[in-house]
Amino acid sequence: MKLSNGQQPVVALVGWRGMVGSVLMDRMQAEGDFGLIEPLFFSTSNAGGKAPPQAKNESTLRDAFDIGQLGKCDIVITAQGGDYTSEVFPKLRAAGWGGHWIDAASTLRMQDDAVIVLDPVNLSVIRKALARGGKNWIGGNCTVSCMLMGVGALYKAGLVEWMTSMTYQAASGGGAQHMRELLMQFGTLHSEVKALLEDPKSAILEIDSRLLARQQALAGDDVANFGVPLAGSLIPWIDKDLGEGKQSGDPGWGVSREEWKAGAETNKILGQGEGFGTPATPVDGFCVRVGAMRCHSQALTFKLRKNVPLAEIEQLIANDNEWVRVVPNTREATLRDLTPVAVTGKLTIPVGRIRKLAMGPEYLGAFTIGDQLLWGAAEPLRRMLRILLEQ
Ligand code: NAP
Repeated sequence: MKLSNGQQPVVALVGWRGMVGSVLMDRMQAEGDFGLIEPLFFSTSNAGGKAPPQAKNESTLRDAFDIGQLGKCDIVITAQGGDYTSEVFPKLRAAGWGGHWIDAASTLRMQDDAVIVLDPVNLSVIRKALARGGKNWIGGNCTVSCMLMGVGALYKAGLVEWMTSMTYQAASGGGAQHMRELLMQFGTLHSEVKALLEDPKSAILEIDSRLLARQQALAGDDVANFGVPLAGSLIPWIDKDLGEGKQSGDPGWGVSREEWKAGAETNKILGQGEGFGTPATPVDGFCVRVGAMRCHSQALTFKLRKNVPLAEIEQLIANDNEWVRVVPNTREATLRDLTPVAVTGKLTIPVGRIRKLAMGPEYLGAFTIGDQLLWGAAEPLRRMLRILLEQ
């Protein structure tokens, strides 16, 4: 991106201290991105406060709702959230701002003039949109982006007739406050049975019933973010109910917004389906919040268009991009390499448990994990910034 005055592009950073924003800042720092831009830091809660050390000429935080200030920037990167995007983006465009908007929130993802960015999978879609004058670059749903980084090769090879994903999504998918809430719950539960745990002769059923009673008593601030206890439990519903007001049997009835995104976004990222004049690949399943801290895991079932030998499938997956790793389908390798604890903080996307299922040779199972704050959120945004800077 060349500016007529020869200066570095001014990039507004909004939402930089949240969960996604903090990881984005770390990655930008690690990759030397700040050396290529003039960053301006904004806040929705602390305008006038001290900007982070990455600031160059401006050491105070700007008001993230100040359209005039944002309008002076060449690029806005926001990881602030959907409410912020809904409020600020239309005002900024209405004020005539023609800069590039890079966003982690889902608000604009399905708009016709927005591209869901995941360049190792859809660089050609991004380039086409750039050539048409595209300005809105939106990070995909975290689970979808991690899934496509892992098994995108099967889609690119035209092998997938349909896919189901059953997800195990970490607390941090909800943001910083959700992580804190889960840890507080773990602490509360541990305190409840600490004395019993320390006594090796205590009865396990007593521990169990005390724990359950404490879990069931969690209320108010203890569950302000998740609504119900997550520690020692799970929640098989993520995001809004898309079926509100619908009858069973109506399309969309009983579907969570997170589940809907799997099909809608997978197809949009791949540049197929509605809006591209080609058939969509059916993708559906259940999204479940679990008590993991970071990383979204998912069990995938594919119906392939033909019977492809397992070794060929593994090769296709392994050769797709430099971050994917095929984990041998053994107990030892799975325990070592295919858990959220093993994957957290890494850009690698392991795909394991790859095997043919009992339903027939076209039915393939796989299990994949991705750090949803990296490939699922921050990384595609910073790579989009780089693509723009290199224009
Ligand atoms: P978050 O951690 O809740 O941060 C969002 C904003 O909350 C921050 O920028 C900050 O804004 C404010 N905030 C309030 N209390 C805070 C605290 N104690 N610590 C840090 N920030 C605090 O949200 P997020 O998970 O980063 O998500 C941001 C957007 O990315 C959302 O649209 C989300 O859907 C999307 N996304 C999230 C993930 C994920 O895994 N979390 C993945 C993909 C996409 P101020 O500094 O202005 O007060």
